[in-house]
Amino acid sequence: MHVLKTISEVRQLLLQIRSSGQSIGFVPTMGALHQGHLSLLQQAQMANDWTICSIYVNPTQFDNASDLFKYPRVAEEDLALLEKHGCQAVFLPTDQEMYPNGMDDISVRIQFGDLETVMEGKYRTGHFNGVGLVVSKLFHIVQPDHAYFGQKDLQQFAIINKMVEDLSFGIKLRRCPIIREKDGLAMSSRNRRLSERERYIASRLYESLRIAQRMLIDGKSIQEIQHEAIANISKHKDFKVEYFEVVQLRDLQGILKADGQEDLAICVAAYLGQVRLIDNIVIEKELLSDLV
Ligand code: AMP
Repeated sequence: MHVLKTISEVRQLLLQIRSSGQSIGFVPTMGALHQGHLSLLQQAQMANDWTICSIYVNPTQFDNASDLFKYPRVAEEDLALLEKHGCQAVFLPTDQEMYPNGMDDISVRIQFGDLETVMEGKYRTGHFNGVGLVVSKLFHIVQPDHAYFGQKDLQQFAIINKMVEDLSFGIKLRRCPIIREKDGLAMSSRNRRLSERERYIASRLYESLRIAQRMLIDGKSIQEIQHEAIANISKHKDFKVEYFEVVQLRDLQGILKADGQEDLAICVAAYLGQVRLIDNIVIEKELLSDLV
């Protein structure tokens, strides 16, 4: 596996790959890898000659200094896992490599209109500007044919998709399903920070999404659903729900009532102790056909 620390090392490898007409699948990550990340790697491997992963904890997308500081960093473990799973190259830049003049020197701002006034964008100021910046930079550096993202970060996928369209990146994006633990908890690097007790109750988040899905199919009102789901999560006092939203999949805007005409997503963010968790379920409109 090629371990590339600088942009110029990536460029050299790209020259080799492109001169032989081979395709590149790209999996950007922040490390502390788990089966969710590996599922993206596997999708990339199935459809491309080369798979390149990046591991970079991007400071510009964190709105909370302590979250950035505590983000798990286990580079050696990650490299061993990627190597074991047949990843051909990994880009592991430093902050200096990504932001040579410092983070404050960047003048470009990326705005995503209505897509970022809801959910993650509403609660994490500047988050999607940081995501847009780093993903654009990584796309320019790696120049992949395909890039793989998880449904786990549904809103992130939507904004990157829009950015790729608006700025004609010419990269095909793939949205990959959420990989879960046995009890339903969505895998996440942040799960490593949960205490044993917190880990035990963490699956309540997914459980509440399933309850909400059932209620939606049964034609309950959005208000009723939110009320029930938030009450279910909040039974444990360690949980603090930030939002619980039912939105249209196509534009992530909230709805007043499900009418069976649109694919929907139920999205939740909550703190469990100090750790912020997110999760979602996508519901295709066919499942809601009784409501038409
Ligand atoms: P992260 O390292 O958290 O920035 O995630 C890197 C990529 O992996 C993103 O596209 C995430 O959406 C995706 N990802 C994270 N967790 C999961 C999961 N449980 N299942 C599938 N994809 C995931």
